[in-house]
Amino acid sequence: MGYTCSNCKESDVKPGVKLWRHRRDEKGLQLLCFKCAKEDQGVKIAKLKRDGTHKSAHGFTDQIGSGGELIPAIPILYTRKDEGYSYYAVNDFPSKPYTWWQRLPSE
Ligand SMILES: [Zn+2]
Repeated sequence: MGYTCSNCKESDVKPGVKLWRHRRDEKGLQLLCFKCAKEDQGVKIAKLKRDGTHKSAHGFTDQIGSGGELIPAIPILYTRKDEGYSYYAVNDFPSKPYTWWQRLPSE
């Protein structure tokens, strides 16, 4: 699976935009673009800053939804082909991959 929104039809989404995932992936990994992340959480966020944050009641955050349910999806790239992608845990984003995510277009 590539780094694309699980919800949008491929033609609906620009490749390489920022994606979020559920904090816990019990039901399987779902990657969501900004539009789908807002729909999933039933929240209205007018605009993201370029770095992927928006203003919340608790200051600027890169998480979406109540309790920060959706977090930035930052892939750990394994070297072995058959291992595919895994994702960094929420409080464990190394600065380089996080900077990579911040620089992706927001939508
Ligand atoms: Zn989407």
